[in-house]
Amino acid sequence: MGQIIDGKMISKSVKDKVREQTEKLKEQGIVPGLAVIIVGENPASQIYVRNKQLACEEVGFESYKYALPESTTQAKLLELIKKLNADERVNGILCQLPLPEHIDESTVINNISPKKDVDAFHPVNVGKIMIGDYSFLPCTPAGVMELIASTGTEISGKECVVVGRSNIVGKPMAMLLLHKSGTVTVCHSKTVDLKAQCKRADILVAAVGVKKLIKGDMVKQGAVLIDVGMNRDENGKLCGDIDFESCKDKASYITPVPGGVGPMTIAMLMKNTLTAAIEQNKEKLNVNNL
Ligand code: NDP
Repeated sequence: MGQIIDGKMISKSVKDKVREQTEKLKEQGIVPGLAVIIVGENPASQIYVRNKQLACEEVGFESYKYALPESTTQAKLLELIKKLNADERVNGILCQLPLPEHIDESTVINNISPKKDVDAFHPVNVGKIMIGDYSFLPCTPAGVMELIASTGTEISGKECVVVGRSNIVGKPMAMLLLHKSGTVTVCHSKTVDLKAQCKRADILVAAVGVKKLIKGDMVKQGAVLIDVGMNRDENGKLCGDIDFESCKDKASYITPVPGGVGPMTIAMLMKNTLTAAIEQNKEKLNVNNL
């Protein structure tokens, strides 16, 4: 059986480092702050927001939660974002998606200051990632890169297959693997022979949202398998896009769901917020003491 990549443990070590640096920032009078906005009552979003607040507590950040009713107008939400863009205590702004239908997500994202866009969804940050000159990386793909690094796997020259092409996961994931000189293939719902594509992969990242789509006969012996998917199986149990049971013996390394990519996403959000706090206070800080 392949080795299981322990996302919980790796995310803890990322958060430990963030906490240590936060303590040093605090010695210089800076407390990193993350504003989290949630609109409406989506139960999954409520859990994500709660977990992000808990992570802030863990690393020593201030968190500012804005829970707005479902009926909130786009204008009201943009007003709040404008206020937070100008608030010095707030280094990162995160607007939990999805938003209610009457609010346009891209308008909201475009109104967050790129300097405080710790999700790295703003077009300015997306463009910087494309060029390879960035301050923040989107949290989930950045977390996946940490998980791959933890295995000691060299990406350069490897066949990397990303299944899924969303703006949040698939596309930036492909770009990060390309920056590390992987030979990258991106698959999606119109890919003709998904099995043939996946079978070539030395590193396979599945970000689809279809439970257990990738089966053992679709992967190469010795591949590194990273599962971003978060789905419910027939019994309501959390499961990924990769069929763990049929793939685990072929993989050299494999992430579980839960306990793989999920915890990394929040850890990387903490890392981005710390980076934002340092960048925004560059003039005031003695960076040699960080
Ligand atoms: P999206 O729905 O935005 O994108 C899914 C992608 O998968 C699309 O590009 C789609 O293709 C492709 N796809 C759908 N069906 C197939 C198929 N049968 N074969 C090949 N490709 C297919 O999802 P996200 O990227 O936002 O999320 C993907 C998964 O990752 C979800 O389960 C989500 O819950 C999870 N997730 C987990 C996170 C974590 O922290 N662990 C964070 C973010 C997401 P097309 O473009 O052609 O429609």
